[in-house]
Amino acid sequence: MTAGDNATAAYVVALDVGGTGMKAALVGADHALLHEARRPTGRDDGPNAVVDNVLAFAAELWETGVERFGARPAAVGLAVPGIVDETEGRAVYSANLGWRDVPLRESLAKRLNAPAASIAVGHDVRAGGLAEGRIGAGAGVDRFLFVALGTGIAGAIGIDGRVEPGAHGGAGEIGHVTVRPDGPACGCGRYGCLELFASAAAVGRAWAEAGGGPGATAADAAAAVEAGDPRAVTVWREAVDALAEGLVTALTLLDPRVLIIGGGLAEAGGTLFAPLREAVRDRVTFQHLPTIVPAALGDAAGCLGAGLLAWDLLSAEVSSR
Ligand SMILES: [Zn+2]
Repeated sequence: MTAGDNATAAYVVALDVGGTGMKAALVGADHALLHEARRPTGRDDGPNAVVDNVLAFAAELWETGVERFGARPAAVGLAVPGIVDETEGRAVYSANLGWRDVPLRESLAKRLNAPAASIAVGHDVRAGGLAEGRIGAGAGVDRFLFVALGTGIAGAIGIDGRVEPGAHGGAGEIGHVTVRPDGPACGCGRYGCLELFASAAAVGRAWAEAGGGPGATAADAAAAVEAGDPRAVTVWREAVDALAEGLVTALTLLDPRVLIIGGGLAEAGGTLFAPLREAVRDRVTFQHLPTIVPAALGDAAGCLGAGLLAWDLLSAEVSSR
């Protein structure tokens, strides 16, 4: 291939924007990560600075690709948190990053001097779920639910190799299913939401209060459970029970074949999965019990998913010819 202004190569730029950090990669057609980089999101400087950082990071990856492969990337995939309008390529809202209605696809097209049709904008957890469903823990599974237990909790509903975004970009928000109606107020405006009890952040907080001390994390709680600390066992039990309640609501509605659990809390491995499988089993009656498995791609899932969104643009282009 000749390296001209309009030449493209067999790689895409993928960018996963998180609450605190951004992960980016150049991804090959075989999902190989050809180059990886990380930057802070810079949310303390406000939403406009975050947008600038995202655009600059994408441009930098683009340049790296051109230098390395002598041709422009074939497409760009961007995964961001919050509510995302994937059709319009807009970041509608993110409580975490403070932005509202950012026309990311348009701004990125301008910045990169690339056609808007070669830029995909998706939701971070749905992108991660897409990657887990296609090339990770759910590879080849026709119906799955991916649930990420991180700072908050969000899910991705996988159907036949794609992830359902919903009519308004809001599908999969399992973290805001009420599991304890008498529970505390949630940032979403309701009470007793799942993520108040079973996110990695919530488990860390609960363990800090119950004896883990200031700054305790979910990993500290898991270690204390493994060491047999009865206070930690109680904290863990409450989180697992709440999680099972939320998951049973989801599987009653969706009937997934596989339930893929990722995010920080899933790193506890068997300490989480053994009691969780049991707690879900105890609660189902007529529902089919899905296989419950840990996510396989770790924190690369979002970036790989952003890459898949970019590659999907290209295959859609080919199939519409
Ligand atoms: Zn909520």
